[in-house]
This record gives sequence, C-alpha cells and structure tokens, in this order.
Amino acid sequence: MKMLKKKYQSEQGKKLPEIVIMTGDITQMDVDAIVNAANESLLGGGGVDGAIHRAGGPQILAECRKLKGCPTGEAKVTSGGNLKVKYVIHTVGPIYRGGNHNEKALLESAYRNSLKRGEEQKVKTIAFPFISAGVYGYPKKEASEIAAYTVADFLRDKEDTSIEKVYFVLFGEDNFTFFESVLDEIYGVKEVK
Ligand code: ADP
Repeated sequence: MKMLKKKYQSEQGKKLPEIVIMTGDITQMDVDAIVNAANESLLGGGGVDGAIHRAGGPQILAECRKLKGCPTGEAKVTSGGNLKVKYVIHTVGPIYRGGNHNEKALLESAYRNSLKRGEEQKVKTIAFPFISAGVYGYPKKEASEIAAYTVADFLRDKEDTSIEKVYFVLFGEDNFTFFESVLDEIYGVKEVK
C-alpha cells in the first residue's frame, strides 16, 4: 500500500503551526506523544484504542485503571509503555447521534484538551488519529474539518506553546483526502493544474 504524506507550513513565520498529514499506523510513530481515541472507561476498546494497547503493552492499561475513566471531550495522560512515545494522551470523542447532541463542541474539546495535556508535558511533536470517525460514526468530512480547524486555530499565533509539529495519522487514502482538502483551504494552497 502506498504511503501518502503532505506537509503544511505557514509562509509568514509563526502564524500557523506545522501540520503533517499521512497515512499509516499511529502506534509506529516516533513523536513525543500520540493521542488515543478512547472510550469513557479508558479500559481499552477496538480500533485505534485496541491497537495502542496491543502495541504499548500492559503498562498503559495499568495506568489507565488509576485514572477512573474520562468524560467525553476531556483528555488524560499516561506513559507510552512499550511505544516509542513518552506519552499517550487518551481523549474521548463524542458518539455521533445525528448532530444535535453537542457533538461538534465535544469533538473540538477533545482536540483542544489533548493539545493542552501535551503542552503541560512540554511535548514538541504530537500525533492524532481521526477521532470519532471510526465506530463512533462522525461523518468524515465534518470530522476532518473540525479536527484541522480546531488544531490550527488553537496553535495559530500562539507563542507560549511547546508544540512544534502536529501529525494526523490516518487509515486510508479517502481519509487522507478529506484532511488534504480542508488543510489546503486553511493554508491557502493554490490548485496546481
Ligand atoms: P472512534 O471510536 O473515536 O470512532 P476508532 O478507533 O473506531 O475511534 O476510529 C478512529 C479512526 O482511527 C478510524 O479512521 C480508524 O480507521 C483509525 N485507526 C484504527 N487503527 C488505527 C491505527 N493503528 N493508526 C491510525 N489510525 C487507526
């Protein structure tokens, strides 16, 4: 399977953060922190959550047990266990129930609180999966717009942040294309025809 990757950078200095979108397995990332799309129990699940616990080993689950769960939209930190990362930031995205159950605000919170937890740990590089876009059923176009705009807006013009680079690590070319469209828009990338 071919790997897709695209990098976004502000041309005028620090205005927008450096963002990289790529296809791949987030458990293989060599960054300071990865974000887990967990459920409120923090006791493991399927999808990216299952993959992170499988690759990271029992240490992460042992730390999660002590955290006593995590409400939707919030985020909590553990070590990276056997992963290359120092930290796993466990956040809980909303389950999509039609769009009138505060889903957008909760998904924005999940991204923002993950970035805040990362800043508290002084992380420079952080990788996100496509939160809520798997079994939680969030429509992908909307979820990708919320992800990209929330991260770019949170870090835009921000001087007092440790975060230098944000990755979105995605499964599949279609998910990559959703992020590419919205980031091209945010960064003002011109269509080359
Ligand atoms: P949620 O419950 O928040 O919807 P899921 O884990 O079901 O979370 O899915 C979130 C996204 O993560 C989906 O697009 C899924 O394909 C993707 N995904 C699953 N495993 C991995 C992995 N190892 N690395 C990156 N993305 C993954």
